[in-house]
Amino acid sequence: MSRCRSWTPTKEGASVQDAGDPGSNHKFWRMCRNKVAKGAVRCNDCYEALSAHSDPNVRRLLAQERGLPAQILEQLLTDPDILVAGYAESRKAGNVAQS
Ligand SMILES: [Zn+2]
Repeated sequence: MSRCRSWTPTKEGASVQDAGDPGSNHKFWRMCRNKVAKGAVRCNDCYEALSAHSDPNVRRLLAQERGLPAQILEQLLTDPDILVAGYAESRKAGNVAQS
């Protein structure tokens, strides 16, 4: 069994607009360490917390990652932030090209 290696927002950090980059401070971020399937880097809780984060910068960083779960990618495609949606669009195009 592996552990989630993602930063995840604290209760306070999830609703702030300027949380900083994930892991940049301990007020708004903590290490997750949830159990995940072998080889997985991040648990579903973290994907959901990051994709729903109030800070667009956090969602932009997530949208630029490779290998996002399809459900999370779909959600980011309709993000109100144009950059987030744009990155997700590129990721989706990339994902399609690889398959
Ligand atoms: Zn996690």
